[in-house]
Amino acid sequence: MELWKDKIRKVVPYVPGEQPNMPDIVKLNTNECPYPPSPLVEKAIREFNTSDLRKYPSILCAELRSALTKSYPVGAENLFLGNGSDEVLALCFQTFFNSEKPILFPDVTYSFYDVWCELYNIPYKRIPLDKDFRIVPEDYYGNNGGIVITNPNAPTSIYMDIEYIEKILENNRDVIVIVDEAYIDFGGRSAVCLLGKYSNLVVVQTYSKSRALAGIRVGYAMACRELIEALEAVKNSFNSYTLNSLSQAAAAAAALDNEYFESCVNKIKNTRQRLINELDKLGFETLPSSANFIFTANKNIEAKELFAYLRSKGVIVRYFDKPRINDRLRITVGTDKEIDRLLTEIKNFIKERTQ
Ligand SMILES: *Cc1c(COP(=O)(O)O)cnc(C)c1O
Repeated sequence: MELWKDKIRKVVPYVPGEQPNMPDIVKLNTNECPYPPSPLVEKAIREFNTSDLRKYPSILCAELRSALTKSYPVGAENLFLGNGSDEVLALCFQTFFNSEKPILFPDVTYSFYDVWCELYNIPYKRIPLDKDFRIVPEDYYGNNGGIVITNPNAPTSIYMDIEYIEKILENNRDVIVIVDEAYIDFGGRSAVCLLGKYSNLVVVQTYSKSRALAGIRVGYAMACRELIEALEAVKNSFNSYTLNSLSQAAAAAAALDNEYFESCVNKIKNTRQRLINELDKLGFETLPSSANFIFTANKNIEAKELFAYLRSKGVIVRYFDKPRINDRLRITVGTDKEIDRLLTEIKNFIKERTQ
């Protein structure tokens, strides 16, 4: 009976942060930008010629590609574009990790990596961060099938200086090293400057966080021409027209508005510092953040309990029920007003419990 059941591929998927449909919530759980995208994006969408939607989108993404080469010291042939960096990363895993040896990534990092390893049958090993949640570069030297480093790391928010990324590259010349820079714009130097020196480096970035375009799904990889060609070949064996034309136009517009982009990033950095200072006063210990979120703990508070309390008050943050990090909350840096509401509810929680 129903023998087909045995033939179905079963996977344990990645669980994204919830996107609840509740009125008046403060949503600080998925590291979205609290500010709208550049006004140029609105203009590009308004002026978009809808009759063009009858045609397939540009495979080359020429306009977006050329806009991106203005932001980075790379040529058009060094860019691979995709539907969000999740798609780009998944294709990188499929294309670059084909060794018998395990690929390496930290025990505390983006939890999609092990999901892709399972999906593509890639052996992997999680390397523990040190007691301060820092990556120990030496742990990644040699004898592996590839490396993935998120920098700044998530959910820790900690940035590793680029000289250590270079050390990891120097000691792994025979495998591909992916640096996932989803949060690099909020603090730190991109590994892009190492591309000329290391042909085994792949830098992945996204327009979902710092460019405020999570809904449009644009991400990209930067690497030497040969690696980009390998990625294109795998993509074209699966789905040639990945990026839709509206997304291409919107992202190209955002790419050209660096002034607006920098002002949003600066606002977020200022709010981040204020949030950390206020939490300090309430007895929280927050890891040093170079991202648009913080990772914080309080010895006197059960993180899970505070998470549930905040949720009941319409403030959604992220809690991971996992070893090493189940005493912490990851909180996206929202607008000042949103952070004020978060702080008020945290104070209410502390007050109610001590009564
Ligand atoms: C958000 C995030 C991504 C994915 O972003 P996309 O929206 O798919 O571009 C990738 N890596 C990390 C570490 C992230 O936090």
